[in-house]
Amino acid sequence: RLFNFSAGPAALPEAVLRQAAEEMLDWHGSGQSVMEMSHRGKEYMGIHAQAEADLRELLAIPANYKVLFLQGGATLQFEMIPINLLRGKASADYVNTGEWAKKAIKEAKRLGRVNVVASSEDANFSYAPALADWKLDPNAAYVHYTANETIGGVEFHWVPDLSGLPGNVPLVCDMSSNILSQPVDISKYGLIYAGAQKNIGPAGLTLVIVREDLIGQAVPQPQTMLDYKTHADNDSMYNTPPTYAIYIAGLVFQWLKRQGGLTAMQKINAEKAGILYDYLDRSSFYSNPVRIEDRSLMNVPFTLKDAALDDAFIKGAQAQGMVQLKGHRSVGGMRASIYNAMPIEGVKKLVAYMEEFAITHG
Ligand code: PLP
Repeated sequence: RLFNFSAGPAALPEAVLRQAAEEMLDWHGSGQSVMEMSHRGKEYMGIHAQAEADLRELLAIPANYKVLFLQGGATLQFEMIPINLLRGKASADYVNTGEWAKKAIKEAKRLGRVNVVASSEDANFSYAPALADWKLDPNAAYVHYTANETIGGVEFHWVPDLSGLPGNVPLVCDMSSNILSQPVDISKYGLIYAGAQKNIGPAGLTLVIVREDLIGQAVPQPQTMLDYKTHADNDSMYNTPPTYAIYIAGLVFQWLKRQGGLTAMQKINAEKAGILYDYLDRSSFYSNPVRIEDRSLMNVPFTLKDAALDDAFIKGAQAQGMVQLKGHRSVGGMRASIYNAMPIEGVKKLVAYMEEFAITHG
């Protein structure tokens, strides 16, 4: 298999894919594929409940939070969040850290009043603004931030602690590209959301973890499918859920537990990213624009000394079995996405290739 550095859909753990292949035609003696099962049948209901239970264990999700398995991607959450939490309220606070935060802000602005309370645009989105600089409104409906900017490679390595501030404003977080990469204190958040196709499982599943008191508050009440209450009241089975994606996500959750859970993953992820950043810092051929303390452990963008060499770099990597290293079309350069499923050998191989390329083209 190739080493796939895609930002998403991204590589999945090989052990998960092997198990899914083994179970493809006959899941646990049921005589059918999970894909073919009724979502109301006892086999699938068991898979669904187990996936939720394992996720709750991995993230230590408190009992007063609902886990919702939805569709529509993180992009639909850009709209569902204001529809459910902002309607009927004066305004919401957003932190602008790059491409994904901007998209969340754009959609929220169509649905209500938005205050951009902090931004790193002044330095080309190369850092995570300090909490002390967030001009928070104690009456905001919520505060939204993007824990990991997948394109810019900027990650918050701290949780904005709003507990000392007046207003008891819920914290809302787009964790699409770093969820499950490390332990996180869910109780600090009102709502967390993530598209599945990076660290959870296949595209088509969207995860929402939401504190119960935030559900069912919108005035006027949202349309049925856009209302968190609909999905919370029906265990994410109001309509047909993305059953196969949930099954694969469940296998990923079990794989994560076998690795030692999120504390173990954090250690491995820090080691993997460390190998890449250490080399980038030693090299005069490559560079990474992000402030050191805010560098993402999941997405590592870098540029070559001469952009004219980009194509040769990508072709050479491909020839050695390393794919999807091209940076996002909006920023250019390269990007290595090294989510949970990327083995450390993949990162070592990439660094060895980068060294060799720098010598031959330097
Ligand atoms: N937010 C972040 C941080 C992302 O990286 C992405 C996708 O890459 C999205 C939102 C959009 O997710 P989706 O494509 O699942 O709608």
